[in-house]
Amino acid sequence: MEPSYTATFRFYGDLLPLLSPVQRAGYFLYPFKGRQSAKHLVEAASVPHTEVGALFIDGQPAGLEAIVRGGQQVDVLPCQPPVSAEPDPRFILDNHLGRLAASLRMLGFDCLYRNDYQDEELAAVAEAQARILLTRDRRLLMRKQVQRGRLLRSLDSRQQLAEILQRYTLKPAARPFLRCIHCNDLLTPVAKAEIDHLLEPLTRQYFDEFRRCIGCGRIYWKGSHYEKMVQVIEGL
Ligand SMILES: [Zn+2]
Repeated sequence: MEPSYTATFRFYGDLLPLLSPVQRAGYFLYPFKGRQSAKHLVEAASVPHTEVGALFIDGQPAGLEAIVRGGQQVDVLPCQPPVSAEPDPRFILDNHLGRLAASLRMLGFDCLYRNDYQDEELAAVAEAQARILLTRDRRLLMRKQVQRGRLLRSLDSRQQLAEILQRYTLKPAARPFLRCIHCNDLLTPVAKAEIDHLLEPLTRQYFDEFRRCIGCGRIYWKGSHYEKMVQVIEGL
């Protein structure tokens, strides 16, 4: 039989809502058998490894691969937003996040999204293309393959957008009118005369600046939808 041990755990900040009420209260004892990594034990408490910003074993910084021994104290801290946005953050979104994908694309962020990705595929593409995986599925984020990801806390797409903008300090990097909401390809300026025959009368009357998606050919202009989005961002 494998020997049994007990270690003391404490989680902090926005990791707390992921725990059971007893575990949220402060330090708690966690019994385990055999040789276990910090990753395994943190995830046994339902916290995916992608949510861990820093980990301390008996007060010393440690990695998730560290082996936890009986009697040790483990403190688990959440990820902190970076001081400034990384130059070109790239995401892949789980099937249930279509509205969030559209919002992030509208802000210019590169988002892979399909409503029929399998978990295997999401994890594999995230790894191969160094994309941040966004999901509400904890199991998916617990896969070793997933290096970077974020467990969305909210069910509401506007709240989810706020979460992601905050988590990755994205607001200063937003570039609306850059990317196609439907296919994620880039938009390129197009002369009004070239697409005039495709426009509705009111659009033709009130707008002069247009862009076209290099992928699907959709035409974009800074109409009411765009204005609404700008207001949403400013409100966040
Ligand atoms: Zn497109």
